[in-house]
Amino acid sequence: MDQSFIPKNRILLGPGPSNVNPRVLEALKRPTIGHLDPQFIELIDDIKRLLQYTFQTDSDATITLSGPGSLGMEASLVNIIEPKDKVLIGVGGYFAGRMKQIVEKIGGIPIVVEQEWGRAIDPQKIEDALKNNSDIKITAVVHAETSTGALTDIKTISEIAHKYGSLLIADVVTSLGACEILTKEWNLDVVYSCSQKGLSAMPGLSPISFSDAALEKIKNRTTPIKSWFNDLNLLMAYWSGEKRAYHHTAPANSFYGLHEALLILKEEGLDNSWRRHKENSVLLVKRLASIGLEPLTPERERIPNLLTIKVPEGIQEEVLRKKLLNEYSIEIGAGLGTLAGKVWRIGLMGYNSNEKMIELLISSLKDALSNKIV
Ligand SMILES: *Cc1c(COP(=O)(O)O)cnc(C)c1O
Repeated sequence: MDQSFIPKNRILLGPGPSNVNPRVLEALKRPTIGHLDPQFIELIDDIKRLLQYTFQTDSDATITLSGPGSLGMEASLVNIIEPKDKVLIGVGGYFAGRMKQIVEKIGGIPIVVEQEWGRAIDPQKIEDALKNNSDIKITAVVHAETSTGALTDIKTISEIAHKYGSLLIADVVTSLGACEILTKEWNLDVVYSCSQKGLSAMPGLSPISFSDAALEKIKNRTTPIKSWFNDLNLLMAYWSGEKRAYHHTAPANSFYGLHEALLILKEEGLDNSWRRHKENSVLLVKRLASIGLEPLTPERERIPNLLTIKVPEGIQEEVLRKKLLNEYSIEIGAGLGTLAGKVWRIGLMGYNSNEKMIELLISSLKDALSNKIV
């Protein structure tokens, strides 16, 4: 108890966090400086530029929030939605359900399009809902639904949303860095993410970006933003302009870590990172098949950095997962909600998306499964 906490090493192959790149861990121990130190302002300007590259946007309203991905989710919704606004949400998993809860809490009216868990949101269903509700001005979907492993086509859904005069909010918490996302070209109005999944940094930060149309919507609000910490206007006084004003004390060391993670991604190149995640996902599926395990989601709807696999008949989901953790020090994820007990979730994100990790996982899984403990 009265000694330093030193965790055992784990191989993190679940839905996040993923193992942190050693370069990021190195960056975290550099000396803390003040959030208004001119050096620090240079750092946040640099983070903005790197995030613009990562999101593929030139929007100045591209910043990072000091909190996990859920803070980005709340920020995107609370800035855009006013009480009584109808918000169309495609719900095919746990995280889209969380969006609905937030919309309700801030006084919006969620209009839900349901999708079977494990499948991508059907763009046609979004189109039908927008056609039947001409007063919907905001649509929200999760790009990579981490609870099910399904990747939704946000490019097509964005086209549809804008055709009907709606903005599009897209959760890219898991997908950023690992899957193709072209924020500007695809006209995504708000995108938000986290630091600990596709970006392979420590948990605790939430990159977010707003389009011009989203900023216009915020400017034209007739009611105040129902949050102080997440009010974009207040945040931008720190993130933009000649003179910067204190908003909250930025977690300096975490910012060093995020900066390093973004730099690593830029050095590799987004295209290369997207390709690597895709190729390793294909290899993982092939290797899993060799030990009799198969994915839940159809091939064209799979998240490249998060695969959901079915628990075979006669195997106890939790027993095997705990065995992997305790005896092999490998963490994989359990199913959530309606998929609890039925699937495992395997993440190969950022630093962990490589052949060595796949082989290690397969040999451990094979070993654990063959012991018939389960
Ligand atoms: C992980 C996740 C979140 C929440 O992020 P936290 O960093 O855990 O707060 C939101 N949406 C999706 C799709 C996620 O995978």
